[in-house]
Amino acid sequence: MSKKSVVIVGAGIAGMATAITLAKNGFDVTVYEKNSQSGGRCGQINRDGHRFDIGATILLMPSIYRSVFETLGLNFDECFELKDLSTIYKLYFGNGEQLIFSKDDAVMKPQLEAMEPGSFIRYKAYIRTGYSFFRDSYKNLLARNFYHLFEFTTLANVMMLIRLKTYLKHATFIRRFFKNKNLPQAFTFQNIYVGQSPLKAPALFSMLPATEMTEGALFPIGGMHQIALKLEEVAKEAGVKFDFNKVAEKIETNGRLAKTLIFSDGTAIKSDLIVVNADLPYAYRNLLPDTKISQRLDRKTYSCSAIVFHWGLSKAYSKFEHHSIFLSKEYRGSLDAIFEHQSLSENPSFYIHAPVHTDPTAAPSGEDSVSVIVPIGHLNEKNPQDWEALKNLARTEVLNRLVMEGFTDLEDHIKFEICYTPVAWKSIFNVSRGSVFGSIGHNIMQMGYFRPHNRHNHYRNLYFVGGSTHPGNGVPLVLLSAKLTSERILKENS
Ligand SMILES: Cc1cc2nc3c(=O)[nH]c(=O)nc-3n(C[C@H](O)[C@H](O)[C@H](O)COP(=O)(O)OP(=O)(O)OC[C@H]3O[C@@H](n4cnc5c(N)ncnc54)[C@H](O)[C@@H]3O)c2cc1C
Repeated sequence: MSKKSVVIVGAGIAGMATAITLAKNGFDVTVYEKNSQSGGRCGQINRDGHRFDIGATILLMPSIYRSVFETLGLNFDECFELKDLSTIYKLYFGNGEQLIFSKDDAVMKPQLEAMEPGSFIRYKAYIRTGYSFFRDSYKNLLARNFYHLFEFTTLANVMMLIRLKTYLKHATFIRRFFKNKNLPQAFTFQNIYVGQSPLKAPALFSMLPATEMTEGALFPIGGMHQIALKLEEVAKEAGVKFDFNKVAEKIETNGRLAKTLIFSDGTAIKSDLIVVNADLPYAYRNLLPDTKISQRLDRKTYSCSAIVFHWGLSKAYSKFEHHSIFLSKEYRGSLDAIFEHQSLSENPSFYIHAPVHTDPTAAPSGEDSVSVIVPIGHLNEKNPQDWEALKNLARTEVLNRLVMEGFTDLEDHIKFEICYTPVAWKSIFNVSRGSVFGSIGHNIMQMGYFRPHNRHNHYRNLYFVGGSTHPGNGVPLVLLSAKLTSERILKENS
């Protein structure tokens, strides 16, 4: 019997992990990718000896990587040279205070007690609770498929959603643990990793800082893109074919089946199954025949976007930790600017990735490679922004803040700059609204069964995988998405 054919649109992390499972289970798999390299938002830029991860830089929740790699027949820890970062990151508050995040209680205790006497014991309780949310939600919400509404709305699941405090705001929950002004920010800003406001996210998301402080943060030597390269290598070994610089333009359908993938160069390919790893709302809007579903997706809440500067520096800045977070002194106002006005405030919060001190191969000797991520509102047709002006504002504000924090001559040492704005995220990766941390947001009404499904309701052989379907965005979750979509394909097509 001939093998069933599968075409996958997109060589992102989720697309490639799906390709491996399907190829290993006897499918004939081809991946079509619009860009020239694999990895999508986990891609890489190399210029003049400087190396930058395009998007993902923090390897969190290593337990999920380990578990999904195992299902691919791989030992995660043997695939990479992994560094366990003793300082997870350094947090700079706008008032001159700083906090080193570490799994080590001996590092955390004196710092927390100095900021708020008695806070260490409450910090431990907060992390314990957050990690219990992670374990519970992993088992009952994130790492399983929901095929029918009644599987999601069982009494057991309702009890779980109550247990996970989805009814309570994270910003309210954190006040039970800390009175100091800065500590609640320190343990809720992580919501921005999944593109949502720390002021509005449910308490469930205390699982983000809790997994950091429990499992730590790893760094693969060579950068996060190594994960994409490994998946590409393993996929090829399993027989997956890759076609780069190939843009899918339409999916032709017939009755209840997706039949043919049409490319921008006029070529076409028929396939038994189609898996879309490209952003899901983009696929409904641009690749499929127009339906009400696309309009419904437009009405969903989308994650925020980011302006990213990659700087090749002629000087090494050993003062940078591997990861640094600079929180705005007008924290609440800066969040409102992003999430209420889809814009950017003066004095924004931002994050810096400076991998050179962990991994000297990231820059020429004596120099530095630094990426700055500034969260910002997403593209919104009803509220258009002057992105060039916002980019200039972000650059000026970041440089001013760095001078204030003691990086006085950094601007003089910028040899070159590469910048990604929301417009670039949309045009390079087809991410709807440039909402790179989703694109669909992660409020509780957009999670589990309520998140766009990983199979099309009408076209029974059309599947989705990646950040906008279940369970959500971020490399660990899109790996889980690949596991869940693959499981479903095998269940429905074997
Ligand atoms: C600035 C930034 C920082 C981030 N930081 C982190 C982090 O620290 N840790 C973390 O875990 N995650 C982080 N993320 C999120 C993480 O990068 C993503 O969740 C993950 O890479 C998404 O993978 P994916 O496979 O779902 O989608 P993608 O990476 O978007 O892959 C989809 C692929 O489809 C291709 N494609 C699109 N349209 C077409 C078409 N028509 N034809 C052919 N191909 C097409 C795209 O080019 C792309 O390669 C960050 C993201 C960004 C942007």
